[in-house]
Amino acid sequence: MSIHKVIVFDSKLYDEKTFKLALKSLGGQDKLRFTFLESKLTEETVDEVQGYDGICVFVNDVVSANVIEEIQKKSNTLKIIALRSAGFNHVSLETAEKYNLKVCRVPRYSPYAVAEHSVALLLSLNRNMHHAFFRTKQHNFSLDGLVGVDLFGKTVGIIGTGGIGMCAINIFLGFGCKVLAYDVFPNEKAAKEKGYIYTTMDELLRESDVVSIYAPLLDSTYHLINKEALEKMKPHAMLINTSRGGLVDAKALVDCLKSGKLRGAALDVYENEKEYFFNDYSQQVMEDDTLARLISMPNTIVTSHQAFLTEEALKNIAETTIQNLLDFFDGKPLNENNEVKAPPKVAPK
Ligand code: NAD
Repeated sequence: MSIHKVIVFDSKLYDEKTFKLALKSLGGQDKLRFTFLESKLTEETVDEVQGYDGICVFVNDVVSANVIEEIQKKSNTLKIIALRSAGFNHVSLETAEKYNLKVCRVPRYSPYAVAEHSVALLLSLNRNMHHAFFRTKQHNFSLDGLVGVDLFGKTVGIIGTGGIGMCAINIFLGFGCKVLAYDVFPNEKAAKEKGYIYTTMDELLRESDVVSIYAPLLDSTYHLINKEALEKMKPHAMLINTSRGGLVDAKALVDCLKSGKLRGAALDVYENEKEYFFNDYSQQVMEDDTLARLISMPNTIVTSHQAFLTEEALKNIAETTIQNLLDFFDGKPLNENNEVKAPPKVAPK
């Protein structure tokens, strides 16, 4: 029986640990061999792929048309691209299809993890936990500047009511908030059962004390929250983004925060995050002025794309990824929810 070699980019110790456990529990040790690499897949690291049957990538690896073309020039052994994420906005699906490369993902590993992190960010921002933590560490027990608002009775606007958005809705309804939602495919049945209300994007922005984003990054959602959208938001509202950085125009957000219009913003994702996130740059001067400005603001919290990071999510990511690879190399069809295909080409009119 042949062993299929898969190189895992942007991997951390926790990935290696959970992959080894999942490989054992799924009985795949004699079928798959993983090489774990800390570096991200980029145009500079494509050489690493030579001789591998599969690559396994995360959200900040670059799987662009150029990268796939470069891989193909140097090695023709590659057969599958296994994403350790639900989102696939970082992959050129058309180029993968051109070279007959399968692409698979983990569509749902823990919507709770991401929704809970977004709520943690909101609670921290609203109640100034990021300041209180450092104050008490320095034995400063003063309360000036730590005033928040009750979330009970406030209006929370949820953009995107899929798996994660729906978990967030449940939490906010439990807090006693009024929940407004916007989705291109509204789930009116759920809205009726749970007691939240679908509305237009404009009304959601105008009415919400908190706007939290759970929509995917697509061409149509790029900079969904731009200068105009920020202008529509209620004064003193809070913006939370745990979805993808590209949904928010970060420069416009900096300007809006500088003007004092918003109470604050909490971001787990940033549009140019792949330059920095997941790595330690504490000894270097930051070159990204927009990110540096956001981090410097007292009413902003930035976490480095960690909303997914729970034990349960890591276990599910490892198990689903390995099952995808085993199915593929065993010649079985990929689970239809896990396979990602290029959108069908529209015939010219
Ligand atoms: P999902 O596919 O279950 O739900 C996405 C929802 O967004 C769908 O209901 C869809 O109809 C809606 N949508 C699409 N376009 C929209 C638009 N223009 N306006 C409003 N709604 C729109 O996805 P999910 O599992 O809930 O994940 C949501 C996003 O969260 C992912 O796309 C991913 O980018 C992000 N995510 C982040 C992390 C993290 O660690 N920060 C982890 C996992 C996922």
